[in-house]
Order: sequence, then structure tokens, then C-alpha cells
Amino acid sequence: MRIPQQILIAIILLSLAMAQQPTAPKPEVPKPPGTQSAPPVVPTKNPKTQESEKILELKGMDPSLMDKSVDPCVDFYQYSCGGWLKRNPVPADQSSYGRDTELAERNRLILRDILEKAAVESANRSTVEQKIGDYYASCMDEAAIEQKGADVLKPELDHIAALKSNDELAEEIAHLHLMNVNALFSYGSDQDFKDATSVIAEADQGGLGLPERDYYTRTDAKSVQTRNRYIRHVTNMLRLLGETAPAAAAHGRKIMLIETALAKASLTVTQRRDPASVYHKLPVSDLTAMDPTFVWNRYLRATDTPPVQSLNVAVPDFFKGLETVLKQQDLPTIKIYLRWHLVHALAGILPKAFVNENFDFYGKKLSGQKELRARWKRCVQSTDQNLGEALGQIYVERTFGAEGKARTLQMVKDIEASMAQDIKNLSWMTDATKQKALEKLHTVANKIGYPDKWRDYSKYEVVRGDAIGNFIRGAEFESHRQIAKIGKPVDRGEWGMTPPTVNAYYNPQMNDINFPAGILQPPFYDNKMDDAVNYGDAGGIIGHELTHGFDDEGRQFDSKGNFDDWWSPQDTREFEGRTACVVHEYDNFIAVDDVHVQGKLTLGENVADLGGLKLAMMAFLRHADENHQQPKAAEGFTPEQRFYISYGQGWCENDTPESLRLQAQTNPHSPVKYRVNGVVQNLPDFQKAFSCKPGTPMAPEKRCEAW
Ligand SMILES: [Zn+2]
Repeated sequence: MRIPQQILIAIILLSLAMAQQPTAPKPEVPKPPGTQSAPPVVPTKNPKTQESEKILELKGMDPSLMDKSVDPCVDFYQYSCGGWLKRNPVPADQSSYGRDTELAERNRLILRDILEKAAVESANRSTVEQKIGDYYASCMDEAAIEQKGADVLKPELDHIAALKSNDELAEEIAHLHLMNVNALFSYGSDQDFKDATSVIAEADQGGLGLPERDYYTRTDAKSVQTRNRYIRHVTNMLRLLGETAPAAAAHGRKIMLIETALAKASLTVTQRRDPASVYHKLPVSDLTAMDPTFVWNRYLRATDTPPVQSLNVAVPDFFKGLETVLKQQDLPTIKIYLRWHLVHALAGILPKAFVNENFDFYGKKLSGQKELRARWKRCVQSTDQNLGEALGQIYVERTFGAEGKARTLQMVKDIEASMAQDIKNLSWMTDATKQKALEKLHTVANKIGYPDKWRDYSKYEVVRGDAIGNFIRGAEFESHRQIAKIGKPVDRGEWGMTPPTVNAYYNPQMNDINFPAGILQPPFYDNKMDDAVNYGDAGGIIGHELTHGFDDEGRQFDSKGNFDDWWSPQDTREFEGRTACVVHEYDNFIAVDDVHVQGKLTLGENVADLGGLKLAMMAFLRHADENHQQPKAAEGFTPEQRFYISYGQGWCENDTPESLRLQAQTNPHSPVKYRVNGVVQNLPDFQKAFSCKPGTPMAPEKRCEAW
């Protein structure tokens, strides 16, 4: 089921969703974990996981993580992170491991402690404790899951097998979508791009098992190999459902044909970054005319969609392609495809054989992760996905102090003031557009830590001992919650991430920046450290999110969150000239082997990185000035040097080659190395701080600047 903001939401960290969910294909745009019901992964008894269970001491800006033998003007990333990189190879149960992972692992230990206590049955448990405790305990009860075996799927498989007509097919697709099964297309609700005050229904491309469209069309040897491995994986899953080897193999090939046809009608991840390409508000009758074989009226009724006249048909050509698929394939073939997507969506909560097969393809082959993550980690994650604002209440009580919130708010205000100054000083922007940019800036809502009002889970039934039922009901609860928004006023207080999440985001339709309590912790934000360190790291993140409101995508939305061009043609031309420089710069970076960073796919994130760090430095100096402080040198570094090293260390990360390839092909964020070097090489303040000579790699002749 689609969630709002999924199309446009811009997050800060690239790999977390993927690193935590090796069983789930990477969504086209990372979904906020709180609303996602991806299956958890399977357990291993691995002595190494014991090691990571020790709570790490994390701190901002740590000279011992550096490699001072490297010249900061040659490779600033290696200079900041060299020591850390050497000491922190990717653990067997991860595909990438960075400072965000260190913090996520730390948060997970806190969450486990909360959940283990809540799991003890007693009369004193609060409703929140009962729900999260029983969910977690059921997820951890592997013996019960093994004992029930694949039989838990039988009612659903029988239902698919019994389908006799297109009417019944439409109702079955609705049922599967509510369970978060990604069959044929995706559906949900979203703020109307053109009217941010209203929520409308939205149908979008979907139905694939590989990460995105181009996985079905690329012709290089590696991509062909991935497709062959994928067909084998689909075949193996069908065999686990009891199909014979020849039947499963034949079915695997048929499924590949259907998905390839759907993929060819889909947009690429890069095309989807253009809001105009995914917004087509049309009468429902237009959709039914495009795709008459699918019984849309039955579908809409079965999803409990309130009566609607129109909806966003995000990618019209996709639904024309879907029509061709439904015409060409008979119902028995579609049923085979549905069986696959059902078992795929639930794989993580099924018995071991399913989990292992699922991990083998999505974890090992696609992401390069060697071992399954410990079961408790996957169950913590699954609880966070389904009950994030229940679990988050206790997490926030334990971890998020008033001082952290106050200092973060101060940084946000300083950075916003710096951005206002930056806009006023722009040489290339006309006054009229500047006024509108300032208006948008002053309207940005700052959401810090956790929501003012917690989500009400009373309609979500959690039954102790029913792991798969809890998982499915969690998806259904969330789907119904999303669909119930259609036609109602927008809730501007809602969060798209849960409080323990180590991430942050900007939502152009809400025009808000959101910093969950989970990321406002060391090493990103450290109460014990001075401003140079915190402005370099957390400040850079805040600046990044704020700049998203003005990147190539965010700038197309106005202060109220409407998709509306407030730029003069001349200013647009000037801005696009500047972003073309950024595209070209990043196109030349190599992610892994022969795979380049995609400058257009990563443009919004790169613009946000560049603007974010520049603004954070301005804010740091402004704050010191306003408070008549003289930032001090420490540990052999000037305040400015500490600011930049703190930024660089926020991105220390090791990745498997598979993970780097997957990221470069699907993820709108650049690899971490370029989130540091690609940024500082454009900043004169950085070059001054480290006295870099013109012509050195971090001080090239040509530099790019958008904001
Ligand atoms: Zn971002």
C-alpha cells in the first residue's frame, strides 16, 4: 500500500532502509519505516552478533577515527574516516556499516530492552506495553512459527486458487494490497500535488520483485546474471509452496514475463524525480477507460475507498501497460503471479526455509550481506514498523532530553537565518523570486524528536502467539489508516518516520523538516560537545533537509506545499545552469567497478548536501558572533577544521561491492565518499580552513554552487 510522501519525501541517509531490510527489495523511494510492513529477516546463532550487543560509546568528532597521514586537500573523506574505516569492516550481518549503523545498533539495544520488559505478561502492563510486548514475543517465538509451517498461507492460497472472474480478481487484488502485497500496481492516498490541503486517492506503478524498472531491461552481463538468479529464487519459493520442480520452473519464467511487461510500462527512478511525471489527476472514468479489463469499481469498493470522482493516476502509461498484461495473460497465469507475490511479501515471518531462501537472493546476492541478522534485531525492527509510535513513546522517555531539543531548535533557527541571508545575497536571483523563496523558508515547519500527538493503535489487534496474523493485521491497519484519509483535511502534525529512526526528512507537500529523536544522538548530535562539532554534523543534516525545500524537486512546490511554479523563467534558467554543473560533477564519480554515480538521479541530494554544509558553517559563525563567543581550537585543530572533520566523520561507512552497485542503480543519494569529497571540493570556506592550494583535488579550478 502506498503511503503519502512516498513519491517526494527526501531523506538524509541513503542506506538504512536497505541495510535493515535485506529481505525486501529497495523501494523506489525509501519509505519511512514507520509505515512500512516489510518482512523481518531470519535469525542466526552467530557468535559475532554477541560482540555488537555491547553498547557502543559514540561521540561526535573523534581524532582517533582519522587517518592523519592522508592530505585533507587530496582526499578529505579518507583523512576524516581512515582510522574508522580500517577498524570497522562490514559485519557479516550487514551489507553496509556506517556511523548511522552504529547508532542504529545502539538504539536497537535500547528498544530490545524496552520490548523484553514489555513482553513479560503482567496485569500492570499499559495498553501500549501490551501491544508492543505481545508483538515482539510472538515474533521471537520461532518454535511456534516452525510448528505452524507453511499451512498459515493455505487460506490465502486457496482464495487465490478459487478466483473465477475479473470481478473476483479485482477484489482479491484489493485484499492483497491491504496486506501490503505488491501485486500488479500500487495504491494509496496522497496530498493532492496541486492542493496541499486535500488528500486524494492515488494509483501508481508497482508489481515488481526486483528493485526497479531497469533491472528488467539492462543488457550487461551482471544484470542478466541478476535476472537469472531472480528467476531461480522465484522458482525456489514456489517449490517451497509445494510445486514440483518442472512446474515451479515454468511458473518462474511466466512470472518474469509479466513483471518485465509491467517494468517496461514503468518509469525509472530518475524519471520519477520529476513531480510532473508522477502527477496526473484524472476522473476515475479515465482510469477505467485506460484499463477496462480491471474492474476498478469493485477494487475501490473492496479497499474501502470513500466515494471519489478523481484520483492521481501517477503514471498513466503504466496502466495502459497493465491492460495489455491483463488481456494477454489468462487468469490461471495471473494466479501464479499472485501466489509468488503473496509468499514474497510474507517471507520474513514464515518458517526458516522461506526466510533463508528470501535472504539468499535479496540479502546475499543483491546486497552482498553474508549472514542473516539475529532474530531479535529483526523482531525489534518489525515491531518498530508496525507499532512505531507506541514503541517510540517509551524510547523518547528514555533517551530524549529537553536540552537536546532546545539546542537542536536553536541550530534550526540559526540555519534558517543563514539561509535567509544566503537568499538575499544571491547575485543571480531576481527580487520577486527572492521574496517568494523567503516566504517559503519562513513557512517551513520544524518537527523535532517526536509527534505532539501519538498514533492511536486501539483498532490494531495484536494477539500473543500469532506472529503472522499480527504482521498482516499491522499492514491492514496501516493501509486502512491511509485510505481513510481520502477526502479528509490533511493532518499536518503527522510524522512519516518513527521516533527511534536514525534518519531525517523534508516533505515538500507539508513543507516541513523532520528530525526523529533517533538521529539526535551521538555521534550526530552530542550534548557533551561544543558548537563546532554539532553544527558540522547535526547542523549539516538540518541544512541538508532545509535545502531540500529548494533543490531541483522541492523548489517546484510553494510555501503551502502546492506544486506550483513560483520562479520567473529567468531564475529557472539560472538555477538549472547551476544544477547542470552539479550533475556533471557527480556523473564523473565512480561508485564501484564500472558503475558511475548517476548525476541526475542524485541531483536533489547533492544540492541538499552542498547547500546544507555551506549553511551550517554560516550558522556556526553567526551563532558565535551573536553570542559574542570565540570558538576555541582543540586537539590540534581550528574550530573550522573541527566543524568539517565532524561533518566528514558523520559519513564514515564501509559497503559491500554489491551494496554499492545496488545503491548507485536505485538510490537518490550518492555514495558516502562523495557526500564528503564531492561537497567540500565546492566550498571555499573548507579550502581556506585547510589551506588547500588551488588545483588540489579538494580545491579544483571549477566549482559548483546552487545555493
Ligand atoms: Zn536528503
